[in-house]
Amino acid sequence: MLLTFEQAKQNILQTSSTATLPEHETVSLTEALDRITAAPIISPINVPRFDNSAMDGYAVRLADIEQSRTLPVSNAVFAGDDISNLNWPIGSCLRIMTGAPVPDGADAVVMQEHTQATEQSVTFLKEIKAGDNIRRIGEDVKKDAITVAKGQRLSIPALSTLATLGIHQVSVFRKLKVAIFSTGNELTSIDKPLSNSSAIYDSNGFTLKLLLTKLNCQIVDLGIIPDNPNLIKQALITASKQADLIITSGGVSVGDADYTKTALEALGKINFWKIAMKPGKPFAFGKIGNALFCGLPGNPVSTMVTFYQLVQPLISILSGLEPLTMDLTFQVRTATDLKKSVGRMDFQRGILQVNANGELEVMSTGQQGSHITQTFNKANCFILLEQERDKVTKGEFVTVSLFSALLK
Ligand code: AMP
Ligand code: MG
Repeated sequence: MLLTFEQAKQNILQTSSTATLPEHETVSLTEALDRITAAPIISPINVPRFDNSAMDGYAVRLADIEQSRTLPVSNAVFAGDDISNLNWPIGSCLRIMTGAPVPDGADAVVMQEHTQATEQSVTFLKEIKAGDNIRRIGEDVKKDAITVAKGQRLSIPALSTLATLGIHQVSVFRKLKVAIFSTGNELTSIDKPLSNSSAIYDSNGFTLKLLLTKLNCQIVDLGIIPDNPNLIKQALITASKQADLIITSGGVSVGDADYTKTALEALGKINFWKIAMKPGKPFAFGKIGNALFCGLPGNPVSTMVTFYQLVQPLISILSGLEPLTMDLTFQVRTATDLKKSVGRMDFQRGILQVNANGELEVMSTGQQGSHITQTFNKANCFILLEQERDKVTKGEFVTVSLFSALLK
């Protein structure tokens, strides 16, 4: 019996959530993009640090405004000014600029556009409420508050917030070490001439490196290993000593030269092999020594789909990310018929677009064979077709999931 896709995914998520997380290291903020926080980050200061003006205009006391809507201007305050000795007599207002400190006693800042100024005085034209246009101390970030929780991927906005706090280094999990190799006698590295008339380029090895680089992993590249059980075992032993995770492509199916799964069984533990998904049926998951193992099928589309759907969440958990973000899926009508037979969950490649009526719809990119890379390359989403679903007719609703930045 094949595992359903959901059963396989749950097995991977549960197994990875019990793994030991990588050690912590301190990196500078400029090197922290996309790294995962190993501890909560506490704010050392309030942001804003002091009450300040949100507008260019005039600071007023409401009691003065009740006396007269026209007030003399007694002083001016600019961003960066020290106002500890500011002179602001009762019955006057202050000229104030955006970002300048608002002195104690000021009830509001009135924007310049709501005033009429002469050389001596300013007239306030609109209603003024207490607190207008004053940015309060700590209203963005409070001192001693958790600004970024543990286990978060540091995005540009998150790092920008840390910069406002003057934090210039952060504690993150060290990068996950991932060992990769491609199996197959037919494979030639993409920078070498093809060795004979049935040789092909090792595109999977190259693709895996790109995917892992985007996920911020440290790659241990073991290259191409021929279809030889001993050499595959040797490579797996080497990999398991150096890496947190081993990813291979090819050799996990039922052919006479498919040795990866048997090598895994001999050296470690196999959790499962084969999933009711298309593409990607032959997929082996297990453990060798302290390293988890994912054996991806060799067809390039299967390699990418299984990496995206199963290995990506595994890497997130092993890297210390929490909680895992859910894939955003939604229902749209299909603008084309979709070939499908009952028995496996399909991850077809589609184009999500807006039709002439302004409605979202999805269309197939064409031939869905696991060796057809061109139809992946044109797609912007997966069309997720349930295991028990049969062929789909134009106009029916289907579930789609837009590609994340990993595939762009
Ligand atoms: P396998 O899973 O080893 O049975 O391979 C399935 C198909 O994928 C075969 O046509 C292989 O030649 C092809 N293939 C296997 N590994 C790679 C690779 N690294 N790059 C490109 N194609 C591959
Ligand atoms: Mg092979």
